[in-house]
Amino acid sequence: MRRKIVAGNWKMNLDVNEAETLFKGICSIASAGNKYQKTLVFPPNIYIHSLLKENNGAIEIGAQNFHFETKGAFTGEVSARQLKALGCSWVLVGHSERRVLFNEGAAILSKKMDAALESNLQIIYCCGESLREREEGNHFDKVRDQIAILKSLTHESMQNISIAYEPIWAIGTGRTASPAQAAEMHDFIRAELEAIFGYTIAESTSLLYGGSCSEENAKELFSCKNIDGGLIGGASLKVDSFGAIISAIE
Ligand code: PEP
Repeated sequence: MRRKIVAGNWKMNLDVNEAETLFKGICSIASAGNKYQKTLVFPPNIYIHSLLKENNGAIEIGAQNFHFETKGAFTGEVSARQLKALGCSWVLVGHSERRVLFNEGAAILSKKMDAALESNLQIIYCCGESLREREEGNHFDKVRDQIAILKSLTHESMQNISIAYEPIWAIGTGRTASPAQAAEMHDFIRAELEAIFGYTIAESTSLLYGGSCSEENAKELFSCKNIDGGLIGGASLKVDSFGAIISAIE
């Protein structure tokens, strides 16, 4: 049985007091979950340590970013190994903001993926097309290319990978993919995984939708058969909206 996951990506938002207040609020509403249902938050790295101390066990904490080297002269960077030692259990890899704003291409993303797996971190690997690629009908090719990076992974490693489909045109824009558009792409990703890894891995990999997911549209999106939860940006910054989205998966 694959896991249902609702994950909040706080991006570069919130001061320390706001982050702690939001986290406490989410802890108070997130049920402890179980092996098959998870609530995750990805705060800015500087808050991870203090939030881990506040954690009541209902939430797992991940890092939005890290460097693929394990240690050394990389001023300003944090490694996967350091995050794991801190108590972090997840990382994001391949978010479109990292791809576009920080030039993270396939070679870097592969190294990040290997570093995270070596440190026993779980990964949400993000993929998704630009508006232009969708309008030109190239969205499936684009996502297929992005998924191809996973080909080098073993079946065992794939057990630590979840995938978030996040069309770039829907991120932070208020313009959500329709349930039909999201479902179509999720079906496609599941089929790609099956072609690469076979039925068992494809069926057990959680596929999340991201891109202006909100309390208004979450239930309909999550009811699609290949949508196993969401990666939530803006709506994860308020207890009420994030709580409603968590409830939508239950
Ligand atoms: C994201 O950045 O991963 C995201 C999905 O953002 P938003 O929900 O704000 O569109």
